[in-house]
Amino acid sequence: MNRIIGIDIGGTNFRIGFTDGAGNVSAFSKLPVKSILKSDDALSDIASYITSYAGGRKYDAVSIGFPATLNRERTRILQAPNLRSMENLPVTEYLSSRLGVPVFAERDVTFALYYDMRKYGIPPNGVICGIYFGTGIGNAIMIGGVPLTGRDGTAGELGHIPVHGCHEVCGCGLTGCMETVAGGKYLARLQREVWPETNIAETFMEHEGDELIAGFLANMAECVASEVNILDPDCVIIGGGVPNMKGFPRDVLHREIIARTRRPYPAENLRVIYADDEAEKCVAGAGYYANLRL
Ligand SMILES: [Zn+2]
Repeated sequence: MNRIIGIDIGGTNFRIGFTDGAGNVSAFSKLPVKSILKSDDALSDIASYITSYAGGRKYDAVSIGFPATLNRERTRILQAPNLRSMENLPVTEYLSSRLGVPVFAERDVTFALYYDMRKYGIPPNGVICGIYFGTGIGNAIMIGGVPLTGRDGTAGELGHIPVHGCHEVCGCGLTGCMETVAGGKYLARLQREVWPETNIAETFMEHEGDELIAGFLANMAECVASEVNILDPDCVIIGGGVPNMKGFPRDVLHREIIARTRRPYPAENLRVIYADDEAEKCVAGAGYYANLRL
């Protein structure tokens, strides 16, 4: 079994662990990204950290997930609003020459989808969609066991489909993207502007039935139904921090999705799985992915 260092670099946290391509993770560690990307040479900072983390332990590959768009060849990051210092650098080439092992880069949501497909026993044939509502909206599409990349590498940017009448500026630079009204950032804005006394983690408990929450759920449903109506997927996995918040009304979301889905199909046969949010998910998924590539 290959021994892989799996890494999940988010806008805030850096997660790392040894993984084996079978879902086992050991020596897992989570630390602030800021504590690693300290200089103006992000790749050198990451290489130095991996070397010190490994501490002489052997590994066969490194596999890194980014909250970013990557080029089709998965060798460099195109755009990462939360990690600007990582954009347009030769990630895999630089790191594999410094570390002396193959280095794989992918979108973090692709790793999450690999993990969830294994965990929930979803066969890789057919069309599988992973939609992850966190701060933004992550989306990975697997077709016949292969992640869809698109011509330039940027397929599956569901969070950035345009919403009519929405004028919020998105982290990607566009205005009116879906994730500005259906992602966690919108909930944070509600908490700030409308419900300042509410602890954001309690939003769904305290404001169940409120029309602002109903609107938010409708936006999430539009997002999911858009993809379902285009792809008629074998399975949709919905995950991320938002659907895993206390009191999140999955039944309402499901009803709203079905209400927007073409009938009789895919509406009548739609298979939706709600995935748990797990700290080690993308690190384990990074291992699955690297193990397939090695
Ligand atoms: Zn956008």
